[in-house]
Amino acid sequence: MDFALNDEQKLLVETSLSVGADFGPDYWREKDDNHDYPVEFFEAMGKHGFYSLGLPEEYGGTPAGITEIALAMEALCRGGAGGGPALGYLFGTLGANIIKSHGDAAQKAAYLPEMALGQKMCAFGLSEPDAGTNTLNIKTYARRDGDDYVINGAKWYSTNIERSDAIVLVARTTKLEDAERRSDGISLFLIDLPNSGITYTPIEKHGFRYYQSNSVFLDDVRVPATSLIGREGGGFGQLLGTLNPERILVASGAIGVGRLAIKTAVEYANDRNVFGQPIGGHQAVQHPLAAAYSKLESAWDTVKRAAWLHDGGASPVEVGAVSNMAKYLAVEAAIEACSAAVQTHGGNGYAREYHVERWLRECQLFRLAPVTQQMTLNFIGEHVLGMPRSY
Ligand SMILES: Cc1cc2nc3c(=O)[nH]c(=O)nc-3n(C[C@H](O)[C@H](O)[C@H](O)COP(=O)(O)OP(=O)(O)OC[C@H]3O[C@@H](n4cnc5c(N)ncnc54)[C@H](O)[C@@H]3O)c2cc1C
Repeated sequence: MDFALNDEQKLLVETSLSVGADFGPDYWREKDDNHDYPVEFFEAMGKHGFYSLGLPEEYGGTPAGITEIALAMEALCRGGAGGGPALGYLFGTLGANIIKSHGDAAQKAAYLPEMALGQKMCAFGLSEPDAGTNTLNIKTYARRDGDDYVINGAKWYSTNIERSDAIVLVARTTKLEDAERRSDGISLFLIDLPNSGITYTPIEKHGFRYYQSNSVFLDDVRVPATSLIGREGGGFGQLLGTLNPERILVASGAIGVGRLAIKTAVEYANDRNVFGQPIGGHQAVQHPLAAAYSKLESAWDTVKRAAWLHDGGASPVEVGAVSNMAKYLAVEAAIEACSAAVQTHGGNGYAREYHVERWLRECQLFRLAPVTQQMTLNFIGEHVLGMPRSY
């Protein structure tokens, strides 16, 4: 077993920490307060080549596995950026990953070179008001009409659509009632934005207020058949390939935020003095931080193991087992770390000025999205422990 990073990975972590520090907590507090998109951060991400990681070299990519992207993600968040990269870097990479894995030559050439530079962004439209966690139940329908498809339906929470050059849209090309198997008949489309048939309204939310999440309405959206990604009806299988990387990267971001919260709380606890000694000298302050820290570090080992299995070509179920455990553990540990950091700060923990309340709000999202904690446990219950499918 070798946990040591190689020289390139060490350099990547150092660069990521430094970019995270350049966009530190005050930057994100201001963005959050003003609902202001962190454009400068994304420019820096592009300049430093973060979006090129793992994309094919012929399209401007840099050879890298999920391990490297996970290391970068954790260090960006830990370096000072908190939750900003944990969601922002994720939605920058997932669309590119789908195009890389399933797009045709024309789609790759049209998107990947600029995506590798961070100059094109791609939103993701899967979740629907009436389908929720049950992806197979989506109602958005793409009807073939000559050389086109005409798409109608609705999506919700599509994040960053207002700033994206395209959306990867998940739609049914065979209605559920007509499909042989429930997982048949789902297709992915790569649709240029803006599109007059696609309108949206922002959803006001609890955290990550610098990113806009939207209710999306698809009204007779006519797109050429060349917008289809991969095989008509094969979209569900194509989506499965993104699930493990997504869980690994969310977990990495959560670990980075949790570690940042612990570091911030320890500094505060060592500095703040109310009963003639630093509050960090009280076990009731120390132990919650030490316990959360232990869980974070242990979860991080599991995240790295999931990434290592993924990059080493282990079977999807094997990678899925560890990725789901990693995502579950990392998010719970991060929330515990942020909660302990808020408590350590006393009343100041509740004040925006001290950042820890924002990181707690941000980590809470990862219990819900991109996949809920319950769904990770469903996977473990069924595929690891061998119990009946519970839904
Ligand atoms: C800030 C934010 C950004 C997002 N960005 C995007 C995006 O860019 N693109 C996109 O497509 N989506 C996005 N989402 C949507 C997100 O992926 C969904 O909210 C999430 O998958 C959960 O679906 P739901 O909200 O419909 O919950 P529901 O499916 O209604 O579930 C509600 C609760 O019931 C539980 N539950 C449901 N079924 C089961 C079951 N079988 N077993 C156990 N528990 C169950 C769930 O775990 C959850 O706790 C975003 C969401 C948020 C909040």
